[in-house]
Amino acid sequence: MPPPFPSRAEIEADQLEQLRALVTELFPANAFYTRKLEDCGVTFDVASLADFSRRFPFTTKAELVADQAAHPPFGSNLTYPLAAYTRFHQTSGTTGAPLRWLDTPESWAWLRELWTRVFTAAGVTAADRVCFAFSFGPFLGFWMAFESAQQLGCLCLPTGGMSSAARLRLLLDNGVTTLCCTPTYALRLGEVAREEGLDLGRSRVRRILVAGEPGGSLPAVRARIESLWPDARVRDHHGMTEVGPVTYECPAQPGVLHVMESGHYAEVIAPATGQPVSPGETGELVLTPLGRVASPVLRYRTGDLVRPAAVRAACVCGTHELALAGGILGRTDDMVIVRGVNVHPAAVEEILRAAGGVAEYQVTVTTRGPLAELALAIEPAADAGDATALARKIGGALETALGLRIPVHTVAAGSLPRFELKARRWHRAGK
Ligand SMILES: [Zn+2]
Repeated sequence: MPPPFPSRAEIEADQLEQLRALVTELFPANAFYTRKLEDCGVTFDVASLADFSRRFPFTTKAELVADQAAHPPFGSNLTYPLAAYTRFHQTSGTTGAPLRWLDTPESWAWLRELWTRVFTAAGVTAADRVCFAFSFGPFLGFWMAFESAQQLGCLCLPTGGMSSAARLRLLLDNGVTTLCCTPTYALRLGEVAREEGLDLGRSRVRRILVAGEPGGSLPAVRARIESLWPDARVRDHHGMTEVGPVTYECPAQPGVLHVMESGHYAEVIAPATGQPVSPGETGELVLTPLGRVASPVLRYRTGDLVRPAAVRAACVCGTHELALAGGILGRTDDMVIVRGVNVHPAAVEEILRAAGGVAEYQVTVTTRGPLAELALAIEPAADAGDATALARKIGGALETALGLRIPVHTVAAGSLPRFELKARRWHRAGK
């Protein structure tokens, strides 16, 4: 009987084989990569994974956006004739123009297989009833999650276009066991349940699969969600439109994400130099999805900051796949430097959730030349008590953790925006 978990050597041999097949398929069929690689003088052969990392250039989102602007509407990063494509999705456009992404039935099936691994690692089986608290727009993750659960044999409950209260009633009335949403929205649903007098103690939800924001691997965010949802465990994972599903949460270590290396060749680099970081150091995740031949990316700069585990030995869960301690730590493009201190939004989120008493918050970044300052507006939770004392407590927690005095003021309940998709809590002013 074969061992249940492939060794590092087996993983890498399989990656090299898939990578060679992918690169061969792109030349000359894929106009974007044929042009890009010829411009850099790179030949379409791959001697080893190290050779690929050494010779092949990175791909950036800016390049893909420019390509779509030059070749509207879908760009030239298509390996097959347009008629072969059946799926259209686009990115949320949080950081600029939305990127359109097409898939063929074959590339879509490849993505769905990877997503199924996310569910399996979280213990989801055909016996589960899975509720999708999404709007079902053109964002890839919704459809991917829904179709993968269906393929696993789960009963799948869509809730697009429903209010939060209606979604809660649907999941209580129909015995939902698994909820898929963003970490922010899991908190929001807990808040609405309290407002509506709905008892989550009678919910059968045993796991909440979260993605879309770094919060899913932050201990304080997880603890807050699990306190609102009795008997449910938070399971994090992540992916993005350009590369598909990437990680699943280690079944043995909460907050540790494993990269699905059966589908991705992963590198972690220093954003400034492009050179690999040492294990245990923070760097940017660079991915090459190995089976999405129809709309590929080679060495894609994801912008996600991660810390690869120090030793690439087998994890306690058994896998040899790359482990990312603390999940996605932040984004290369969202860090703010305040008086010499690097402030990541995920760190602020963790501090606020650990302090407790905050229903929602908003951060304003004011920049004057090279100097940035932060100010925080917080909306106290219903059970938070004295608002002035809460603001003082949050200010103290920020100062202790970051060594910065950041002004904190409270605003009325319900006055800050709520989010179903990626939360946008950071705003820039004074530019
Ligand atoms: Zn593990």
